[in-house]
Amino acid sequence: MDMINGYLEALPEEERTPDPLYRERLDVCETCSRLQNGLCAVCGCFVLYRAGKTSSECPCGLW
Ligand code: SF4
Repeated sequence: MDMINGYLEALPEEERTPDPLYRERLDVCETCSRLQNGLCAVCGCFVLYRAGKTSSECPCGLW
C-alpha cells in the first residue's frame, strides 16, 4: 500500500525494520487467523505498518 510505504519511509532509518525481518514478520501475519483485510484484529493496526517499525511487537507474541 502506497500510503503505508509513505509512512514507513518517513520514519528515521533506525526505526524501520530491516527488510529480511520485515518479510519474516509479514509472513507470520499472512498465516495468522487474526489477520483481517490487512488489519490485525487484536491490535487494530495495519500489519504492514506495525511490522515495519522495528520496535513493534506482535500483540500475541508471534514475532
Ligand atoms: S500482529 Fe500478530 S496477532 Fe496480529 S495478525 Fe500479525 S501475527 Fe497475528
